[in-house]
Amino acid sequence: PYAVPDTQGMTPMMAQFFEIKAVNPGYLLFYRMGDFYELFFEDAEIASAALGITLTKRGRHMGEDIPMCGVPIHAAQDYLRKLIGLGHRVAVCEQVEDPAEAKKRGSKSVVKRDVVRLVTPGTLTEDDLLPARGNNFLACLARLGADGDGFALAWADISTGDLLVADISADILADEIARIDPAELAVSDRLADQFLETRALSAERLATISRLPHSLFDSEAGAGLLRETFRGDVDPTAFSRTARAALGALIAYVADTQKGISVSLRPPRLEALSAHMQIDAATRASLELLVTQRGESRGSLRSTIDLTMTGAGARLFAARLAAPLNDPAAINARLDTVSALLERSIETDSIRKALRSAPDMARALTRLTLERGGPRDLAAIGRGIVQARALAATLATFPDCPEGLKDIAAGLERAPQILADEFAVALVEEPPLLARDGGFVAAGYEAELDTQRRLGSESRKVVAELQAELVDLTGVKALKIKHNNVLGFFVEVPASHGNKLLEHERFIHRQTLANAMRFTTGELAELEGRIARAQETAVEIETAIFARLRDAVLRESRALVAAADAMAGLDVAAALATLAAERGYARPVVDQSLAFAIEGGRHPVVEKTLQAGGKSFVANDCTLSAPETGDGGQLWLVTGPNMGGKSTFLRQNALIAIMAQMGGFVPAVAAHIGVVDRVFSRVGASDDIAQGRSTFMVEMVETAAILNRASRQSLVILDEIGRGTATYDGLSIAWACVETLHETTGCRALFATHYHELTALAGPLARVSNHTMSVREYRGDVIFLHEVVPGAADRSYGIQVARLAGLPAPVIARARQVLDLLEAQGQSNPGSALADLPLFAHMPAPASPPPQPRDNPVAAMVEAVRPDDLTPRAALDWIYELKKAA
Ligand code: ADP
Repeated sequence: PYAVPDTQGMTPMMAQFFEIKAVNPGYLLFYRMGDFYELFFEDAEIASAALGITLTKRGRHMGEDIPMCGVPIHAAQDYLRKLIGLGHRVAVCEQVEDPAEAKKRGSKSVVKRDVVRLVTPGTLTEDDLLPARGNNFLACLARLGADGDGFALAWADISTGDLLVADISADILADEIARIDPAELAVSDRLADQFLETRALSAERLATISRLPHSLFDSEAGAGLLRETFRGDVDPTAFSRTARAALGALIAYVADTQKGISVSLRPPRLEALSAHMQIDAATRASLELLVTQRGESRGSLRSTIDLTMTGAGARLFAARLAAPLNDPAAINARLDTVSALLERSIETDSIRKALRSAPDMARALTRLTLERGGPRDLAAIGRGIVQARALAATLATFPDCPEGLKDIAAGLERAPQILADEFAVALVEEPPLLARDGGFVAAGYEAELDTQRRLGSESRKVVAELQAELVDLTGVKALKIKHNNVLGFFVEVPASHGNKLLEHERFIHRQTLANAMRFTTGELAELEGRIARAQETAVEIETAIFARLRDAVLRESRALVAAADAMAGLDVAAALATLAAERGYARPVVDQSLAFAIEGGRHPVVEKTLQAGGKSFVANDCTLSAPETGDGGQLWLVTGPNMGGKSTFLRQNALIAIMAQMGGFVPAVAAHIGVVDRVFSRVGASDDIAQGRSTFMVEMVETAAILNRASRQSLVILDEIGRGTATYDGLSIAWACVETLHETTGCRALFATHYHELTALAGPLARVSNHTMSVREYRGDVIFLHEVVPGAADRSYGIQVARLAGLPAPVIARARQVLDLLEAQGQSNPGSALADLPLFAHMPAPASPPPQPRDNPVAAMVEAVRPDDLTPRAALDWIYELKKAA
């Protein structure tokens, strides 16, 4: 309905609506009407359904009712959040003139309105619309013929001003987008169509794409915008053409959404992808780095190991975890910082205590830049400065500070004390959110403001005196001077006394109520004016002071950003130090070798979960480098029953590598890791229904990606590859994969499998060795020891595990029969053997097994004990008894 704004015969308001709607295609139009934003036509239908608000109608258009719904201004923020969360974009259209002006032009004319802001998922700045501990990235993706086939991605967090750019080759595009995980991905129309065709991105990602005109992606225009935005700070030729186009599009798009309010972005940082460990999208998902496979943050690695205190710290922590480093020197510099803090645990505790109450300076700064900030943002910056400097002072007491910590201290010291001093005298203790109504400048800061405020408050004293005088004059003790918005100041007396005042010429009658009469006097009117003027003047003065203080902040924005960054860096380092101390993590040795030697490694998440349940984790070693030569390329084949701990063991080693390379200590007794350039983790058999590919197909596509991309420096983890197809197919594929990894790739690898046949490979392949999860059998039950030991599993214990899982006893008994038969006949032709078995339904049902007599003394003891009745002391004695009995 918006295509042809034929304004003929429309009400002027509708004509205006269509004009505005036509230039903002793809946005729900929030059209300001008094105290509401109203939506019309299709917008109204979409919004009412999405927000669960009533759809009504307002007026008619072309003989039809106009569907309408409205949201009140005061609740608009909540509705915006909901709509944006659902993937909609909103154009906020305000009245841009006083309605009185419009009336002057004639009774038919409408108030001028204009779109003041486009709200999209990637351009939010409001605190309550943003995740405090997460980044909210807007990303622009460009592809130009000029630089070959590559892409460039520019991404910015408008709420903090961070801006980054990277050149990306097509093969890792989806992985990098998954790493950055932008809230909004903007691409040209053309590219969007290509993606739809080639399905190069996941369906979910495609659904959140914003389409921009192709002309916005232009390297020349981009260079111009970079010069204009960053002046001498940025040399556009330092970026590839494609990167310039991506940056240009991003800057232009952001400017368009903010409608003339300039956003302060920092000079773009070029991110060299070779500087960090490549973790593809499937590995990220399978290792559950930032979110679990179900998309929840609880239970992810991040939620388990992120102990940062501040929002900015948490954002940095996530970014580092998502992109571990590749350069041993840089990694060791970070580790040095963590070590230094770990050694000074008392200072580190106090640093963390201080950080707990540290404000989010970067976001406050952005709000001030965008003219959406208020007095509280000024106060936050003031507090931030004081804290930054105090932290720097604490760091100055550290003996032989490592470089990383010195850099942090230097950043903190850049916080401009002078601003904090100013705010300390300028602002009241707890300033209001908005500057609009004043009341945030402290008394004594500016003489003129104090004078005006005194006039206001003195007038109140004058009112009290006048009231006393009028009581005397009239003899009406119940006479009161009151104030409301309609009459201003007025004199009120009970109706019974009204006549006395009516006679008096000093009183002018204004109102008669049921039991009161109201009057004004000349003095009151004058007083009224004086107070109003004083208040107005005071607010004007405060507004000017706010503007001055805001400008002072903006002038210092570089130093403030440096201090905020340093504070986030300190938060992350202190969090990692605390993590290491609390959980007993060790400092890894990281170098350029091909080593991978983990002693006593644990899975950080599983360990934490077990501990919460009072259980302990069994630590395991893993050596994928030859101990003497240090050569990598060892491949461990891990067999063992389901639930034995294979997946946990495999993943813990990948997680240890990632944590080490992000610059953290690791859950192990000791670890020596030669930097891993790429880590791959695949777990067999998980459906990807959204992409419409079968389990097996997904598995093979992912396995192909590994075999094609892994290098000698990579770490590969394959968990039950080949399970999604018939036994022999799967076995053959797994077999070939192991051979290729060993012969061609030569990477460090862990391979968990159900195919016991694979263990034969340990013979011919020199660097392949067999390991198994040890189990013990006790009276037909299987007990998992979770210990990785050399050798191959002799059996898979599937039936025992099934029994543990609660499969009905008759089914278990039957399965045993079938298994026995299969084993007796050999597996050459299982089908024919099975054909001779009598059918399940015709078998006499085995009686359910009688409760196991517990003749074993240990078992009897365990059965008898009631943990709730034991004191800790008694429990300990009992354990000694138990050991004796065993
Ligand atoms: P698999 O992959 O062999 O089926 P998992 O790795 O999924 O087994 O482990 C199954 C369960 O066993 C885990 O959820 C965990 O509770 C427990 N577990 C695994 N490894 C250990 C360990 N090293 N120490 C203690 N418990 C473990």
